[in-house]
Amino acid sequence: MPALQFEILATCHTTKARVSRMTLPHGVTALPAFMPVATQAAIKGLTPQQVESLGITLILNNTYHLNLRPGTKVLQEAGGAHKFQGWRHNLLTDSGGFQLVSLSKFTKITEEGALFSSPFTGEPTMLTPEESISIQHAIGADIMMQLDDVVSSLTTGPRVAEAMARSVRWLDRCIEYHEKSGRTDVQNLFAIVQGGLDPELRNQCLDEMIQRKDRVAGYAIGGLSGGEAKDTFWRIVKQCADKLPADKPRYCMGVGFAEDLLVCAALGVDMADCVFPTRTARFGVALTFKGPMNLKLGKHATEFVPIDENCPCPTCKGGTTRAMLHHIVTLETVAAHAVTMHNLTFQAQVMGGARDAILQGTFPDYLHKFFDNYFGDAGYPEWCVNALRSVGVDLLAGKEGAKIVQGDGARWEYSTTKRK
Ligand SMILES: [Zn+2]
Repeated sequence: MPALQFEILATCHTTKARVSRMTLPHGVTALPAFMPVATQAAIKGLTPQQVESLGITLILNNTYHLNLRPGTKVLQEAGGAHKFQGWRHNLLTDSGGFQLVSLSKFTKITEEGALFSSPFTGEPTMLTPEESISIQHAIGADIMMQLDDVVSSLTTGPRVAEAMARSVRWLDRCIEYHEKSGRTDVQNLFAIVQGGLDPELRNQCLDEMIQRKDRVAGYAIGGLSGGEAKDTFWRIVKQCADKLPADKPRYCMGVGFAEDLLVCAALGVDMADCVFPTRTARFGVALTFKGPMNLKLGKHATEFVPIDENCPCPTCKGGTTRAMLHHIVTLETVAAHAVTMHNLTFQAQVMGGARDAILQGTFPDYLHKFFDNYFGDAGYPEWCVNALRSVGVDLLAGKEGAKIVQGDGARWEYSTTKRK
């Protein structure tokens, strides 16, 4: 029995979106889905039981952090990260490569692996593809990611081609190590497509990695969401999603804004992760279908209504007012907890609504409604308009005089971080 079963239940008649059922060793997850990030085996602000109560069935843990603390010895003694953290559902781990590059000032990439100095002792330490999979075996994640040679999406020149080719070679080493481990029936390995912002390099990487189709359970699109232009971002996502095998899940790494999630889903992406909804909650920003709401702003001080009256989350249902949240956000831990519950519910609603609409054949309408609500007043981000046009949905159809904005678009209230 393979450790991952992937069944497509419906595809959108217009876009490339699909709804699928992914069955993993710790249960079923409906896709497309957003995966919250539990860096230290804990989603900041929530207990695993609370995460479960929100209906979330797949979360992400960070290999780099869990390897540093508590370490693989403790995790193995505990019987894996599921038991360690009391999480009964599915778990995905990254390879550790990304943090290694982003956190360590002294990382040197060699063919053998990534050489870095330990943040604790300064000792030189090597993370090889085999070591990454070995740590992920100790963690026991349902989905493990290959170690890849990560470069910033803003890097240009021969380094991008080198990193892409090395990522393919490291994939082979990850596959071999995993296949020899005897754990292929309980853990899955995903490949990560690299190649920067260069369509030709992406194409080469796709060709190579698709040749390994029978030895990987799914594919990630990596190396994006690093500050590149959004118009480039969606074109690379589309190129990868179009070419990747239809019968394997596709995971776009580092995506968490609602508009990005829906565009990616429309391009045929099934999974995404980001710290954004939980991090922004701790900074006092609640996500809503009318756009992000900065609870620190003075105008919320006398609003005696929930963040969103239609939201089913415990914070809104329980009657916690915006005024109360304004009073305590960024000051009391309970505020982070309350807004995090709300934000993860919002993410789940955006994706759950997308799944329902795809199943009912109304996904284009759903996109229109979402973007009208979210951006209709402030202006539609041009890249979203372009991306959705490429899959047959014209957000501006029948909207004479609709405002279009460059860049990310207006996330009004979001950028203001000072309490007013
Ligand atoms: Zn809510």
